[in-house]
Amino acid sequence: MILHLSSWPEVDEYLTNHSAILIPIGSTEQHGPTGLIGTDALCPEVIARRVSATTGLMVGPTFNVGIAPHHMEFAGTMSLRPSTMKAVIYDWVSSLAHHGFDRIYFLNGHGGNVSTIRESFEELHQDPVLSQPNDHRRPVVCKLANWWGFAPVLDFCRSTYGGAHGAHATPSEVAITYAAYPEHQKHVPLDPQIAPMSRYGDAQDYREKFPDGRMGSDPSLATVEDGAHLIELSAQHVSEDFKTFAESPCD
Ligand SMILES: [Zn+2]
Repeated sequence: MILHLSSWPEVDEYLTNHSAILIPIGSTEQHGPTGLIGTDALCPEVIARRVSATTGLMVGPTFNVGIAPHHMEFAGTMSLRPSTMKAVIYDWVSSLAHHGFDRIYFLNGHGGNVSTIRESFEELHQDPVLSQPNDHRRPVVCKLANWWGFAPVLDFCRSTYGGAHGAHATPSEVAITYAAYPEHQKHVPLDPQIAPMSRYGDAQDYREKFPDGRMGSDPSLATVEDGAHLIELSAQHVSEDFKTFAESPCD
């Protein structure tokens, strides 16, 4: 069930038997010359749709701009300040809690969001209103999972791409977007074939060290077939994890 494709009476009906919702959360940032700027938001979104189709559980709107200051020297990148992101996550969760959602599962697509999301959860779990039950719901609990963070997904990436997987604009995330949006594949020469890998400082330093935006990766290895497999593999593990969380009692 997709929140944006449901009517309010349908959501009301859902809430008579369920109280869980999955929020895809990502970023709007450059992903090299062959990767879509929406990659980090699109990956959890397309996986979430598979999760919804197999579990029947609710998927909310995609939180699609995150923490991406180090990509700001590349056209099209958008970034939130951590304080803004925490404030918006709070408002999303408290809106959902108002209607009776009390198990909020964030499926993340961007490593740079993790610490801010965790800080948000600390505030939410200590909130004097949200941490208390009322007539409509139990205490609100949030959970974070990264779409790639399940052992079989990591194993597939390691065995398929080896040392060309890299750290940014990876063939796995690009493959997922190509499987979902094959008409937006971009095949352009990459030089060097595998991008450099090193530490970096601010946005200008990132641009100097990684001139085309990739870090350690060769995204020309991305195929629609592998992307479709990764969507299924991740969705299978996210579905199990989300179902367990949806049924979880309060601590
Ligand atoms: Zn990414």
